[in-house]
Amino acid sequence: MSDIPRLRPGDRLVIATHNAGKLREFRELFAPFGIELVSAGELGLPEPEETGTTFTENARLKAHAAAKGSSLLALSDDSGLCVDALGGDPGVYTADWAGVPRDFNRAMKRVEDALQAAGASSPGQRRASFNATLCLAHPDGRDVLYVGRCDGTLVWPPRGDQGHGYDPMFMPDGYDITFGEMAAETKHSWAPGQSGLSHRARAFAQFVENQIERA
Ligand code: IMP
Repeated sequence: MSDIPRLRPGDRLVIATHNAGKLREFRELFAPFGIELVSAGELGLPEPEETGTTFTENARLKAHAAAKGSSLLALSDDSGLCVDALGGDPGVYTADWAGVPRDFNRAMKRVEDALQAAGASSPGQRRASFNATLCLAHPDGRDVLYVGRCDGTLVWPPRGDQGHGYDPMFMPDGYDITFGEMAAETKHSWAPGQSGLSHRARAFAQFVENQIERA
């Protein structure tokens, strides 16, 4: 809960990202609320360097940069894949493992190579979680954080062409298909009043509960 006023239909909110996959997911999640979304990329705001060592630090850094740069409320997402057998890597460095320019086939192969090197071949040895920290920042410096996590197993080879990033190698618990094989609605499994499936949808469910004006 925060003292940042709740958002209402017609309000404008900056999504503090330059990542097209995240932006698409936020547009899908916000659809029921009539809030006008504009991304940091669309506003021409610079992409801040992610110098933090935690999801929280990076989420705050991105949200505050966008709120200050736009003089609007801004919502950021810092997220990543944490692999048990790799001591939580790639974690906050999940995007970096995709190199420049971003190549997620290469990133997934890097995770798989590291799992092979660690001798992680059975599903039980290939446990991982996706984690998302959302930060809502006010231009005056106030902020609030919401966290979501989704546990699952990493598969190889990657499966499916839906979603983005590492989705094709992540199979969430309770499903026998990867995020990459799921329709977006299934990956979110969220509607007002529900708790969500993906890390982002689960964090978003709490954000909605606390930050959006009920009709
Ligand atoms: P950052 O939050 O900008 O540091 O980047 C997060 C990284 O995690 C990106 O490389 C994403 O591709 C990856 N990631 C975050 N959420 C998801 C997801 O829902 N599916 C697949 N990859 C994700």
